[in-house]
Amino acid sequence: MAKVISGKEVSAKVRADVKEECERLKEKGVTPGLAVIIVGDDPASRVYVNNKKKACAEVGFVSEEYALPAETTQEELLDLIDKLNNKKEINGILCQLPLPKHLDEKAVINAISPYKDVDAFHPSNVGKIMIGDYHFLPCTPAGVMELIHFAGIDVSGKNCVVIGRSNIVGKPMSMLLLHENGTVTVCHSKTKNLKEICSSADILVAAVGRAKFVKADMVKEGAVVLDVGINRDENGKLCGDVDYAEVEPKASYITPVPGGVGPMTIAMLMKNTLKAAKLQNGMDD
Ligand code: NDP
Repeated sequence: MAKVISGKEVSAKVRADVKEECERLKEKGVTPGLAVIIVGDDPASRVYVNNKKKACAEVGFVSEEYALPAETTQEELLDLIDKLNNKKEINGILCQLPLPKHLDEKAVINAISPYKDVDAFHPSNVGKIMIGDYHFLPCTPAGVMELIHFAGIDVSGKNCVVIGRSNIVGKPMSMLLLHENGTVTVCHSKTKNLKEICSSADILVAAVGRAKFVKADMVKEGAVVLDVGINRDENGKLCGDVDYAEVEPKASYITPVPGGVGPMTIAMLMKNTLKAAKLQNGMDD
């Protein structure tokens, strides 16, 4: 039976640490501030934005929400980002993705100041992550690493397999594992022998976006299995990319969905915003 790595528990600890440090910053006259931009009325985005605002309030940050109508123009959005880039009270800027089709996501990401880019999506921050010299890590992969560390798992020399190569999860995830001396294989939809490759993994990260995609026959006995996926199963119930019931008996450690990687993402966003506030006020350690 696998040990369950609880994202609920670890994220609560991260948020408590951020809260404590936020109090120290406030004593020095600095209150971290996060601006969250949402364009249109996508219900999932609305839930994410509300959760981010709630987390800010909990750790003692100021949060500003900019809810823009779906028909907002590229120019209007870039104008707002420019204002926020120059607003002293705002340390972190986040534009909730996906954006409505007529808006250019790349241009929007590029417009956010790399110093306020707490999602770590800006090409300059992506480059810094690549060379291992960074201030911010992308929240979801950083959250996965936090879970690995919390469980006391040493990545060095392990066979690590990441299923998925998106810019926000799979690619940076593989880089973070590589930085910790894992031997990393990245799989995607064109990968041949996926089952075979996954079965060789000591550490398997699933970021596919397909409900219960990873089955027991893709997992080595005693593997560490980290499930990034957020999907709905055939009954509309929240589930991950891993078939938990099948895989759990084979794994040594596993993250559940919900309550695994999900809560870590927002906790790491709080950590990045705190770091941004410190950097912008010359307080970084
Ligand atoms: P994307 O759709 O951007 O990427 C999915 C990746 O999976 C792609 O690289 C794709 O390959 C690969 N893939 C798809 N089908 C297969 C297959 N049959 N075999 C092998 N690889 C395959 O998704 P994201 O990276 O954005 O998200 C992945 C999952 O994580 C989603 O469920 C998402 O909801 C969840 N998520 C969770 C977060 C959290 O906070 N916990 C945050 C972000 C995402 P190819 O590149 O070839 O198309």
